[in-house]
Amino acid sequence: MARFRMYPTSEQAGVMLEHCAHARYVWNLAVEQHTHWYKGRRSAPGFAEQCRQLTEARRDNAWLAAGNADVQQQALKDFATAKNARFASGFGEPTWRRKHVHEGFRVIGTDRVEEFEADGSPKLNAKTGKQVMGRSVVVQKLNRRWARVKVPGCGRVRFRLSRPEPPRAKTFRVTFRNGRWHIAFAVVPVPIDGPGTGEVIGIDRGVAVSAALSDGRKLNCPQLTVKERAQVRKHQRRAVRAPKGSEQKTAEYAKAAKLKACEADRRKDWCEKTSTMLARGYDLVRFEKLNINNMTRSARGTTERPGKQVRQKAGLNRVILAQGWGLLRQRTGHKAPGRVEDVPAPYTSLRCSLCGWIDKNSRKSQAEFCCSSCGFTCNADTNAAANVAAGQGGIPRPRRTAGAGGTTPPGQRSSVREPQPTWVGIPLFSRGGGCQALTGMLFCSPQP
Ligand SMILES: [Zn+2]
Repeated sequence: MARFRMYPTSEQAGVMLEHCAHARYVWNLAVEQHTHWYKGRRSAPGFAEQCRQLTEARRDNAWLAAGNADVQQQALKDFATAKNARFASGFGEPTWRRKHVHEGFRVIGTDRVEEFEADGSPKLNAKTGKQVMGRSVVVQKLNRRWARVKVPGCGRVRFRLSRPEPPRAKTFRVTFRNGRWHIAFAVVPVPIDGPGTGEVIGIDRGVAVSAALSDGRKLNCPQLTVKERAQVRKHQRRAVRAPKGSEQKTAEYAKAAKLKACEADRRKDWCEKTSTMLARGYDLVRFEKLNINNMTRSARGTTERPGKQVRQKAGLNRVILAQGWGLLRQRTGHKAPGRVEDVPAPYTSLRCSLCGWIDKNSRKSQAEFCCSSCGFTCNADTNAAANVAAGQGGIPRPRRTAGAGGTTPPGQRSSVREPQPTWVGIPLFSRGGGCQALTGMLFCSPQP
């Protein structure tokens, strides 16, 4: 995917918002069709059948016919792709799209180009023997900085060319979020080659340090500054106090959203730069295996059994998600396919990277690691990253007889758990902003 910022004129923006509305309507219709399916019933309509139904619907409804047929059909195509990938994509079943939240549509290129096989020979149709003609997006480079792309119904729309050349793609997707238009061309990027030295790097992702590398480097994902965070709170406060449905309320929420979008941009930028650095500089990149979905699950509980420290857990979840752990792993995987490994996470932070001894007493504090067996002293995050680079976090479950594994007396906690906050002070917000209440939730585990 290659993404650029788009600058439509106000008329073009109006037409494109209409496209968004049509695409959303068609998508939601497809979602609704598929929710009626249950086990034992005939399967819900697929892409081809849905396209036939769309044609019928366009004949009966003038407002739907007024929209672009390609945009509407591509929404169905997107839905079919999402539905087929629901077990592998990580997004699950396709769900509802909301106005102002999921604004976007896909455009299929109108230009025709000759298709070629991977070896450069012309791609031939099996029946007719003629060369296959494929779709291509019409992109016109204006100058070094600007290019234009053809969008149905609104002519050519300008976008900022932030790469040397516009990509050659068959389709693109236009999105509208936080008052900004973007265009993303559907291209698979060329994988980045490793240095070929066989160098291995381990990455320990944490909250105090976003990514600690096994070579001792500590990388931090940029976040909003204390001042900016105060501004977000100010705008949210003003929005809540503004009269219901007033212009001021909308404006204040928009200001808060703009700042948050800025934070997301910084996080994305950092993830892209870091993942490129990792893919370029190392032949094998090892991450510890984290289930971020489970780690950031709400502590709210149910009405009958409400959870404990719900606000604190929500705050921790926010901090975890602000680190960009998942995106860093995902983008590194894209850029260095086959060169990224996931190492089991248990005990990576308690194991001595020198002698392999696992003991919770080795971890003196959040930052300090001192092996209780061999006396090896190191930064705790670097030590964990070294364990990840070595590809091991220790044995998955400590055996009672094993010397290094610690003991698990029946009904009690294992002696190799990470240090508990009651006797170890863990500053969660070492980089600005104070929230002492979160300290107790760093090693979140359900209380018995
Ligand atoms: Zn040791």
